Amino acid sequence: MNFSLKILGTASAVPISDRNPSAQMLSVNGRLFLIDCGEGVQQQMRRMHLSFLKVEAIFITHIHGDHVFGLFGLLSSMAMYGRTADLYIYGPQALGSVIKFYRSFFADESAFEIVFKPADCTELTPIHKSKAVAVSTFPLRHKIPCFGYRFDEIISERRRAGNPACKGKSFAYCSDTVAFANLSEYVRGVDVLYHEATYMNDMSDKAVNRWHSTTSQAAQCALTAGAGRLLVGHYSSRILDFDAYIAECMSIFPDSVAVQDGDVFDF
Ligand SMILES: [Zn+2]
Ligand SMILES: [Zn+2]
Repeated sequence: MNFSLKILGTASAVPISDRNPSAQMLSVNGRLFLIDCGEGVQQQMRRMHLSFLKVEAIFITHIHGDHVFGLFGLLSSMAMYGRTADLYIYGPQALGSVIKFYRSFFADESAFEIVFKPADCTELTPIHKSKAVAVSTFPLRHKIPCFGYRFDEIISERRRAGNPACKGKSFAYCSDTVAFANLSEYVRGVDVLYHEATYMNDMSDKAVNRWHSTTSQAAQCALTAGAGRLLVGHYSSRILDFDAYIAECMSIFPDSVAVQDGDVFDF
């Protein structure tokens, strides 16, 4: 089974000339799972040849604009392209009101159902099951309710019978959050961990005040969790030296990558 992760946006707060706000697309056997939906997501999907109609579910971490402002445009385009399949959307309870607002003004021509399910949870909780992948949600610690998502490949009975030790692939997404001890438990053993690292270590006070993480905190989470690889992003506009930035991660967790818009990771 192939997991392919496409990075659509890596900025924090506002779009800049070469960065869009947060969004990533996980593709599992042709099924698309969109995680966060920052502004610019449609153009990024076009550039990366991702079909609006093949998105099975959207997972929103929290209702800050840099994670959700792309949603209305994307839903509208799905309707224009004649989508009929149900679309599952997960996110904090309050996202239900945002979707209701969209429906009341913009969904006249829409021929598909939006199935919204709140992600609100206090521990790792199953939330979505597809043919190939099971998705769980877990709480993050941010200024407002915020949830991470974990994607685990479902191993068929037949495959497991042939190889009892076989381990499915896995990916987890953590944004935005301050560092806390339980987080590494929620993402334990994943092949690839995306963890926000808005600030470098010299701005750790700011990270706490603004409910974000630093490079070292993201790397420490990956190390404690036993993750295979760490991807970091959600960069503050004040980060200019990316060699120094990623060096802070790699000094704790060597297999760290500072992701860029348009990057693709197959695993
Ligand atoms: Zn953010
Ligand atoms: Zn935020």
